Amino acid sequence: MTDCIFCRIANKEITSRIVYEDDRCVAFHDLHPQAPVHVLVIPRQHFDNILACGAEDAPLLGHLQWVACEVARQLNVAESGMRLVVNANRDGGQSVNHLHLHLLGGRQMTWPPG
Ligand code: 5GP
Ligand code: ZN
Repeated sequence: MTDCIFCRIANKEITSRIVYEDDRCVAFHDLHPQAPVHVLVIPRQHFDNILACGAEDAPLLGHLQWVACEVARQLNVAESGMRLVVNANRDGGQSVNHLHLHLLGGRQMTWPPG
């Protein structure tokens, strides 16, 4: 989608600090980090959010989670711990309508989340 900011990041029409990419996804630092490590993992294919995925997309969703774990290891927050967050729709607090996983780490997370 040409008017989607994350599609444009995946296509490198908008600059971002990419930490990992392959044929299916891109991972890059969040513009407004909420933790010392805050990386977004997105599929190259546009989905409005995780609720738009079907059973046929399960391998891609698994791949995105594996990539987030690889990036966590790469950025040295695997041992200390990290959190993966997927916001969806209004109550989920989603602000960008392209599926993305937040990888958060480098500080103690709290529970319940806000
Ligand atoms: P959401 O609120 O949809 O779960 O998360 C969207 C995230 O995208 C936010 O954490 C926000 O800071 C980040 N974001 C929005 N626009 C940009 C951008 O242009 N570049 C980068 N790197 N992050 C962005
Ligand atoms: Zn998109």
